[in-house]
Amino acid sequence: MKSFSIRSKITLWFTMALLMVVFFTFFIVLSANRQVIQKNIRDNLIMTVEHNVDEIEFYNNINNVDLHNESDYFIRFRGGYLEIDDDFLDQVNEVYTALYHEDHTLIYGENPISRQVSDLEFVDSKVQRIKVHHTLYYIFDRKLTLKGLEELWLRGVVSEKQGMTQMSDITRLSLLLLPFMVLVSVTGGYLIAGRMLRPIQKISESASQISSGGDLKKRIAIGDGKDELHQLAKSFNAMFQRLEESFDAEHQFTSDASHELRTPVSVILAQCELSLEEPRSSEEYEDALRTIQRQGRKMSKLVNHMLDFTRLEMRADSYMRQKLDLTELVRSVCFDMALIQEKEIVLNYEVQEQVEFVGNYQLLSRMLTNLISNAYRYGKEQGHIFVSLKHLEQEIELSVADDGIGIATEEQEKIFRRFYQADNSRSVAGTGLGLSMVYEIVQFHDGTISVESELQNGSTFIVTFKNIN
Ligand code: ADP
Repeated sequence: MKSFSIRSKITLWFTMALLMVVFFTFFIVLSANRQVIQKNIRDNLIMTVEHNVDEIEFYNNINNVDLHNESDYFIRFRGGYLEIDDDFLDQVNEVYTALYHEDHTLIYGENPISRQVSDLEFVDSKVQRIKVHHTLYYIFDRKLTLKGLEELWLRGVVSEKQGMTQMSDITRLSLLLLPFMVLVSVTGGYLIAGRMLRPIQKISESASQISSGGDLKKRIAIGDGKDELHQLAKSFNAMFQRLEESFDAEHQFTSDASHELRTPVSVILAQCELSLEEPRSSEEYEDALRTIQRQGRKMSKLVNHMLDFTRLEMRADSYMRQKLDLTELVRSVCFDMALIQEKEIVLNYEVQEQVEFVGNYQLLSRMLTNLISNAYRYGKEQGHIFVSLKHLEQEIELSVADDGIGIATEEQEKIFRRFYQADNSRSVAGTGLGLSMVYEIVQFHDGTISVESELQNGSTFIVTFKNIN
């Protein structure tokens, strides 16, 4: 059973259940039918005998008899005549009726088992059962007391076979039809099961193709539907989508990272080769060393950023979340960053008191520092930075606005990608990782980030977190 397909198992169970139901129904119907038929036979027997009672008359004097009725039958009895009316049913529907003397002498009529029941005592108005040659017979006797003929009995006899012929017709029909119906149901069931299980087969085929190194872009296509299998296929497709995205992201990150590292490495190598080609003056060596130092710092910054990313993505659990005073955090970061005074830019801030939040202090400081340092780097001479923290009805809103060089509309959605640097960043030394780090930190705290910016008119980064109160 273990090695059978689900389709075969379903069909097998279904067939077995169906056969059981069919056999039970068959036997219940047959036995109910048998009882009804038996009752019919007995009722018919009683009715026929009772009818025949009325068809017998006794006349003391022959003059009282309508001798012109030629179809009546006359029997000499007690010095008079017994008249058997022509309506007397001596054999109808295999019910035989015979007139007996109480000493079992047959006076009139027929009895198919007269020899076998010649000793059977007469019992008035009661159906008796007797088996003759494996056949069951019903016998019904009536004493003709009311007619003053106490010594005469009417005996009706009918065999069970009379009803059984009807029964066997039903049985034969059932035996012919039922297997045919079972066959039709089983074939139908097998086809339906196959049809219903086809999506599972498709799901399993697609999953094994993907897992055996096939195309990650492949999806399970089982058409539209709302049943459990379609839900399952949708979940699988969503999972494949995420897998594909994370593989792509991983691939992108590795290729971007190696690309970003290759430039400083090439510069360092070129600088070394150039310096070693021939003897140089000490100023030239110093220049070369400064270039190498600059590129080395760039690499170190890149590597640190990449490590931060990996740590945040891979071991997000290692960043503890705790209840913290966001007001104090923003104030302290702004206080420190205001000291920079790069390009004579002035930093102002307005923070609402007692804004509390559950998060990681270190990451949130890092996020704000990144945003403010971008505002400095992409700010104009003697520009302004404005940081604000406030409680809204459902959210906490933190914004960093500057009146710097701004970001082109088409670039605004791309700046959160890793290593992405917009056109405006040409003159600024960056890694393209600062905002993507900010994005990851916001995601880590289940928040959202958006940017509003216009080229040459400055940018505002707005971060929102869910209010914990
Ligand atoms: P980078 O190291 O290049 O600054 P980021 O990820 O921090 O990397 O930023 C990505 C890009 O977004 C930057 O290269 C820059 O073009 C743009 N950008 C970020 N912040 C600002 C800002 N405040 N004003 C104008 N442009 C900005």
